[in-house]
Order: sequence, then structure tokens, then C-alpha cells
Amino acid sequence: MPPFEDSYFEFSDRPVKLRGCDCPGCSQPGDYRAPKNRDQLDQYFWFCLDHVRDYNRQWDYFAGMSVNDIETHVRKAAVWERPSWPIGGGWRAREQNIRDEVMREFFSEAADAPPPTQPMPKVERDALLLLELTPPVSFAAIKAQYRILVKRHHPDANGGSPESEERFKNINQAFTVLKHIYGTDEA
Ligand SMILES: [Zn+2]
Repeated sequence: MPPFEDSYFEFSDRPVKLRGCDCPGCSQPGDYRAPKNRDQLDQYFWFCLDHVRDYNRQWDYFAGMSVNDIETHVRKAAVWERPSWPIGGGWRAREQNIRDEVMREFFSEAADAPPPTQPMPKVERDALLLLELTPPVSFAAIKAQYRILVKRHHPDANGGSPESEERFKNINQAFTVLKHIYGTDEA
């Protein structure tokens, strides 16, 4: 399907009053546009109100399309915020129904998603990072990891290197912070 042309809306969103209805024999002004067919949504007929209603009624635009197709189509057509074809008549009601359906699905998907978590305090995040842990973690996991790390980085196990000493100190500090945050004095 060709995309909507913005330029189209710029110069002809409001139809010229003198345009005649495209319905043969009708002398009313053609104030209401309707796409000529599904594959040429950028080409329009212009009808009077009565004839655009007839046209809409006769053309079941979404007939034979699956819900997925319709959804894709509606999204592609960008009917969400733009003025769309044509004003009044069955089109608008049908679009509204489909929009409602798509939005309902959208929001039910959103409702299934886990609620956004509270942002983690930086001190906690940094402490976990120092212990090479990725939240969410239990205090038991923190403790287990702490035990592994203090063993690995203990200065005695590393020939007393200043780097190990620094790392060891940081690990202990991080664990102290986490003990406080996770609400237990147990070590
Ligand atoms: Zn007419």
C-alpha cells in the first residue's frame, strides 16, 4: 500500500467547495473523499454526503482480511492521529471499531507485562556490581558470592598484592552495604 502523502493533506485537506460529487448525475458539492480502492488509498473520489454514505456502505473495506492484516493495515495507514477518509459515514465507525480493538489488545499486552520496578538506589547497584552480581538477587545469593570472592581476593591468597588488598576491601564494604540494605546482620 502506498504511504499517505503529507503534501496531499497540506493543500487539500479541506476540499474545495466547488468540487462536484463524483457520482454520475449528482449536482451536489463533493465535500467527502473516499479512496478509490484498497491499493490506491491516495486516489480519491469526491462525493456529497449522501453518496459517500452509499459508497461506504457498499464497500466493505476490511472484508476478508484477518485481524492481523487489519491491524497491520490500520497501523500502516497511520489513521491514529491524522484526519482520515472520509468524513462521516461507515468508514469512520469501522475505523473506530478497529482502533478500539487494536488498542484493547495493546493495553491487555501491556497489562500482562511485569510492573516497572522501583529504580534501584545507586549504592545498592554499585555494591552488587562490585560483587559481580546482576539484580534481582536474594541475600542468600549475595552471601554465597561474597564467600567466593573474599576467598579469591584475600590478600593472603594473592601474595599480599596491593590490588588484591584494595579489591578485598571493596568487597567487604559492598557486602556491609548490602547487609544493611537487605535488612539482616547475619554474615
Ligand atoms: Zn452526490
